[in-house]
Amino acid sequence: MANERTLSIIKPDAVAKNVIGEIYSRFEKADLKIVAAKMMHLTQEQAEGFYAEHKERPFFNDLVAFMTSGPVVVQVLEGEGAILKNRDLMGATNPKEAAAGTIRADFASSIDANAVHGSDSAASAEREVAYFFNDNEICPRG
Ligand code: ADP
Ligand code: MG
Repeated sequence: MANERTLSIIKPDAVAKNVIGEIYSRFEKADLKIVAAKMMHLTQEQAEGFYAEHKERPFFNDLVAFMTSGPVVVQVLEGEGAILKNRDLMGATNPKEAAAGTIRADFASSIDANAVHGSDSAASAEREVAYFFNDNEICPRG
């Protein structure tokens, strides 16, 4: 499997629950390297642009309101098969359907407040990493 980069966001609910470290620990235990990271409070524009693919969905306004409701931590994860590996660590979108031991099963409370975001494909990873980070903000591949 290829060495990949993927974009991860610890959403406002998980930051408020004080579980940033617990989530980082799961990435590290799964051999994903955190090669860029920043805490930020997304503006309406930043959240709308990031989730542009969902613009027509009925939950779009709630999603943007939630993602701008408090600080988030945005990071680039790097490793073998990082995109799918991170999705596996996250669990299903709806925490009620997320497998035991996944981040969403353990830390998310609802389909809106579901603790984490992760890119879902190579194309979205490329777009999403570039959405938040310049090349010179990401550790060079070692
Ligand atoms: P994922 O985050 O697992 O990739 P999606 O890309 O389908 O899921 O949706 C983006 C985000 O929008 C989800 O993480 C969730 O917070 C929210 N969302 C998705 N579906 C719903 C829904 N039916 N009702 C409310 N919020 C939703
Ligand atoms: Mg998605």
